[in-house]
Amino acid sequence: MLGGTFDPVHLGHLRSAVELHEALGLDRVHMIPAAQPPLRGEPHITPEERLALLRLGIGDTPGLVADPRELEREGPSYSADTLATLRRDHGPEARLVMALGHDAFLRLAEWREPERLFALAHLVVMDRPDHDAALPEALAALIDGREVDDAETLMAAPCGGLLRLRLPSRMAISATEVRHRLAEGRSVRYLLPEAVEERILSAGLYRR
Ligand code: ATP
Repeated sequence: MLGGTFDPVHLGHLRSAVELHEALGLDRVHMIPAAQPPLRGEPHITPEERLALLRLGIGDTPGLVADPRELEREGPSYSADTLATLRRDHGPEARLVMALGHDAFLRLAEWREPERLFALAHLVVMDRPDHDAALPEALAALIDGREVDDAETLMAAPCGGLLRLRLPSRMAISATEVRHRLAEGRSVRYLLPEAVEERILSAGLYRR
């Protein structure tokens, strides 16, 4: 699972998903837009628009799936609840992984039921350029004893571990920068898949 606001999806998300798929030998990466992200303000476009852009961005990429499950629930989108539905779908033996960037990881101790995340899945933290702050104390305590050194060790169990990964093509692209550029009418070429850029421009999304 690679959850996010995807406001909008960009090549940093998509390339990370492809490289995660490869690095961990995953069957699938479920990219799951949050209907209502609990720890940030309202997204700039609707959940349905973000899901539609995600679908366009993924296109026919092998191994990546745009998964609408958080749009089908009422209220805030808590990852523990989402992982519980994936666990239910795939059974107790499946290796489930929740991937997130280092910036999102830094706030993990503030998430709802962070311990439950580890009871349901492994966590994989992706390095992200410009995001290398030290871990807060509560987070260090939460992950104590969970870290493993390689993907093989992680994937030997169905859940409970933590792996930090430096993926080959780390991209310094953020949705915030993409939105700023769009609002100012500046180019976003090569930050987004072409089909996503076309839809945003033709529908006039993210214009000031
Ligand atoms: P914003 O700038 O609006 O905060 P964002 O670009 O960080 O957005 P999110 O939708 O919040 O995008 O991110 C979803 C997940 O993808 C998070 O775990 C985030 O850390 C990760 N992520 C986002 N951009 C990248 C990137 N360029 N490389 C690796 N991981 C990324």
